[in-house]
Amino acid sequence: MTCCELIACLGELIDGEMDDGLRAGAEHHLGECPRCTLLRESYHFTIRLSRRLPLVALTAEQQTRLRLALVTNWLVDGGSASPRAI
Ligand SMILES: [Zn+2]
Repeated sequence: MTCCELIACLGELIDGEMDDGLRAGAEHHLGECPRCTLLRESYHFTIRLSRRLPLVALTAEQQTRLRLALVTNWLVDGGSASPRAI
């Protein structure tokens, strides 16, 4: 697995949604690549930090804009994975 391949699937790895074969390749790469290991640690840190933030209610307009942005980004990425409930 290359750095680009790992970065492309890092979210799946962290969310535990990666199949066993791919996860083994990702873990092997992480064992040899300090840059990707640092990226994974940064990702975990960001998640922990964001969980400490207070919840903020979005206005109806903000919700609509967020949904539109998420769907647009998903379509731009080729829609290769199922969009999560938005
Ligand atoms: Zn790497």
